[in-house]
Amino acid sequence: MSGAVHESVLDAIGATPLIRLRRLADGLAPRIYLKAEWQNAGGSVKDRAALAMVRAAERSGALAAGGVIVEGTSGNTGIGLALVGGVLGYRTVIVVPDTTAAEKIAALRAYGAEVVPTPGGLTREDPRHVTNLAARIAAETPGGWLADQYGNPANPQAHRDTTAPEIWEQTGGAVTCLVAGIGTGGTISGTGAALKERGPVRVVGVDPETSAYGGGDGSPYYVEAIGHYRHPDTVDDPWPANWDRAVADEIVRVDDRTTMLTARRLAREEGLLLGGSSATAVAGALRVARDLGPDDVVVVIAPDSGRAYLSKYYDDGWLGRLGFTDEEPGSVGVLAVD
Ligand code: PMP
Repeated sequence: MSGAVHESVLDAIGATPLIRLRRLADGLAPRIYLKAEWQNAGGSVKDRAALAMVRAAERSGALAAGGVIVEGTSGNTGIGLALVGGVLGYRTVIVVPDTTAAEKIAALRAYGAEVVPTPGGLTREDPRHVTNLAARIAAETPGGWLADQYGNPANPQAHRDTTAPEIWEQTGGAVTCLVAGIGTGGTISGTGAALKERGPVRVVGVDPETSAYGGGDGSPYYVEAIGHYRHPDTVDDPWPANWDRAVADEIVRVDDRTTMLTARRLAREEGLLLGGSSATAVAGALRVARDLGPDDVVVVIAPDSGRAYLSKYYDDGWLGRLGFTDEEPGSVGVLAVD
């Protein structure tokens, strides 16, 4: 089959393939598929939410010609917004913590975003915190519109409208289990709710072991873009409005070491070089799959590629310094998961 022809790059957001796990799923009864979200035009699942949020803002009039898209994010949402903004002719301003990797800042700038750095590690109450600074810039900039991925209902709606129907159709309605990480909660809430409306689908959230979402103490962890780190001086931890906590039937907690080892095995044994949130989700799915049968079909959301993390999860020195390797150098990739 030949590939699709798109008249705009925006049409190259969504309609991602499912790719079956083979060697990692050896000995497990169900079929396990990855939803290849890294194949979206901007390289991540967040392209879907970015496009949907911008389109909804245009419809409501919150964003109009000459308008400015503003968001606080260090990650893929910024790339998605910058991509969409550039194509549709909006300025895009992204506030990032100064702890953000240089490559990510360079990528945002390459897509034409104006990047505003602010100190990382601040409390949620601090006016310089990314979220607060982005809100201020949006309010003070003429034509400014804050995307607000944690609260904007267009984020989960993007997954109700696109991710879920794609999965349902691709599996011929056979999907019985969805596994996804939780950042804003948009992916799991939108996809999970819409799948459950179609059939009995078990929705499994995965969370870094120490993340506060899944019951951890909120202490730091290394996997990026999912979970909730709780600053020690922050009193309150409101859950993101976009995470509908009723959707997940369970939350599986995965420690950093298992995530790193799974990432390495995915690259070496499946030919899939993926980001840490994908590896966390796969590790969670492998655990859940032990209790499932041959009629089960598990779909795991794989949000982005591993290219942005080569100097971390895929670097022996980095892993070794953190104690994530086995005693023998280079042996990390062949360790069994879990
Ligand atoms: N993985 C990656 C790589 C991401 O960038 C994000 C978004 N922060 C997520 C997972 C979580 O997705 P969501 O915000 O929809 O919960």
